[in-house]
Amino acid sequence: MHAVIGDRDVLVIYDERVLSHRPEAAEEFLPGRMNKRIRGILDGLGLEAKWSYPEHPGRVLAVNELLQAEPIAGVKMAKGQAATREQLNRVHTSSYLESLYDLEGKQAWLDVDTTAISAGSLDAAEVAAGSAIAAVDAVFEKKAKSAFVISRPPGHHANAVRARGFCLFNNIAVAAAHAQFHWDIERVLIIDWDAHHGNGTQDIFAADPSVMFFDTHRAAPFYPGTGDLEEIGEGLGEGTTVNVPLPEDAGDLAIVNAFENILVPAVEWFDPELILVSAGMDAHRTELCLNMSYDGYSALTGIVQRLADKYCDGRLVMALEGGYNPDTLARCTHRVLEVMAGGEPATVREPGVAEVAEMAEFHRSAFADME
Ligand SMILES: [Zn+2]
Repeated sequence: MHAVIGDRDVLVIYDERVLSHRPEAAEEFLPGRMNKRIRGILDGLGLEAKWSYPEHPGRVLAVNELLQAEPIAGVKMAKGQAATREQLNRVHTSSYLESLYDLEGKQAWLDVDTTAISAGSLDAAEVAAGSAIAAVDAVFEKKAKSAFVISRPPGHHANAVRARGFCLFNNIAVAAAHAQFHWDIERVLIIDWDAHHGNGTQDIFAADPSVMFFDTHRAAPFYPGTGDLEEIGEGLGEGTTVNVPLPEDAGDLAIVNAFENILVPAVEWFDPELILVSAGMDAHRTELCLNMSYDGYSALTGIVQRLADKYCDGRLVMALEGGYNPDTLARCTHRVLEVMAGGEPATVREPGVAEVAEMAEFHRSAFADME
């Protein structure tokens, strides 16, 4: 049977309230060395002049614009919802939430690794987390086969007590906790294919055997510097954290291999009831973190969808994490959604090898006469 885009319905959640998070990088952090350091990091990111803070509203605008310009059969759009304090409190401590809400309406730096907030940031962050919850509800209520949340700020670097790496609330963790609490399921799998290690998500569930965390990422000392092979979980959660730290030039073949040969057997052992994906698109080669292509993202989606079908009655929810080149981010998301909507996943290959084989054939005849 041939897979056709539109065979499956996918709910895409996009809510303009996530645009109201607009930190200003020009804001002074701390006088002296620290401010210089922040500015150095920001300068090194080679940003477009229009946005001074790398995690900016133009990212999700680009994704939404491409979906409007090139609609995908089977994809329907919906607005999100704001997470409640109670829902956030399932993964974040009360003291952390209070410290954040004390800054509501203000412009401030939260962390030396470039996490800042603006007047509208908490509204945006509540909607980012709440939309992940809405996506979980949609798949359990069978409103759609699967769901994808186009939101920001991202979440996977935030742990129970701290904002880091552009992240305020850990959206995917809030969604996992909601699924267990509200839908009464036992086992949730979180896959994190963002180029950066999802240190916050790992922290939150390290000692929790009911949440398996699988993460492919560029190895330390790349940001955030965690995610070693030996980090396998703690206490009762030992064995349900699976890290695959990769060299910087790892591409489609390596990462698809990690999914087929590490994730697939782990999932067979774990037998999840829901799959959540921290869908960062910064492993694409244009982001200069790892060396994936659009086909690679398509192939990974095919594997994840297959696992969701086999173990979870199809229940699959993805939420955007990183991806700082808006064009690449939009195209990656589009390719992922095509597969979620029933399209055939791409087959990955080492670029150029098939072409060289053809050209070798062409040139062979040219030199055959010379023998
Ligand atoms: Zn990232």
